[in-house]
Amino acid sequence: MNTNISTLEHGWLQVKVPLPFSLRWVNSYIIPEREGVTVIDPGLGTPEAKKLWSAVMAEAGFGWKDIKRIVLTHQHPDHYGLAGYMQERAEAPVYMTERSHAYALRLWGKESRFPEAIRELYIRHGMPQEIMDRIEHNLNGFIELVSPQPQVQYLSAGQRLALGEWEWELIDAPGHAYGALCFYQPDIRWMICGDQVLPHITPNVSVVPGEEQDPLEAFLGSLTDLKSYDVAFALPGHRDPFTDFGGRIDELIGHHGRRLDKMAELLTQEPCTAFALCETLFGARLRDNPHNLRFAMSETLAHLYYLEREGRIRSRKAAAALIYESL
Ligand SMILES: [Zn+2]
Repeated sequence: MNTNISTLEHGWLQVKVPLPFSLRWVNSYIIPEREGVTVIDPGLGTPEAKKLWSAVMAEAGFGWKDIKRIVLTHQHPDHYGLAGYMQERAEAPVYMTERSHAYALRLWGKESRFPEAIRELYIRHGMPQEIMDRIEHNLNGFIELVSPQPQVQYLSAGQRLALGEWEWELIDAPGHAYGALCFYQPDIRWMICGDQVLPHITPNVSVVPGEEQDPLEAFLGSLTDLKSYDVAFALPGHRDPFTDFGGRIDELIGHHGRRLDKMAELLTQEPCTAFALCETLFGARLRDNPHNLRFAMSETLAHLYYLEREGRIRSRKAAAALIYESL
């Protein structure tokens, strides 16, 4: 058996599609249908991932034309990137929410202004230009990893979708990615949770230009909502399926509470820019890893925006950048 494939109950397969980042892999799930299969989140469009899919199909005994549907939990490139490539070969529809699709077009569409918007945001928050140049270079590298982009059909939260033998409830799950969906099946109590709830990893919560400005509030609200579901088995976008869904949600909520307190405390000791605080929290060595630095910077901003909205800190303009201070 290919080490990237694990068999789950009901004949479902978990495929670990390789990623060239510290996350190491993204989970794709293959769901047997009466005719052919549905693929959830095919992965990022790297040569390694494409090679893996050929090996997976040979081993699992299906071909491109057996893929009848491609369903995306959300629009991030590690989930969405290979959808167009798979669609071209399978001639299958790709499903995602309209909101997620709008984000994909905004980031990787022909007229994208996203790198400029990120630059403006990060410079305003104290990031040096030369570091921003490296982030922009890294961002531009994603275009080929999500190309060709798929033709998509829309799903909406609140609707039901048949996957395998059951009907699933589609749940709006904002905060990590606006437009993201979780899929819940009440009879078997399974939850396909994308990156909204991950074991061992704290899902990234980022301020993204053009999206709502308090993603952490949206994320925490979504976690509270998800906690109300009775889940026996959770199928995440990274790492492995797990059982203690509610316990993991509590840990994530606790993590963000502690992080908010720590940041407010650091700003009491010394007011500073978001970039300076990001380096205090995550370490200056991230300068050598523009991909992780972008996540760290946007996550720092998400916490600062949350604290500011709560009235625990405020920002003031000093020279070229905004300085945050505790109240
Ligand atoms: Zn992901």
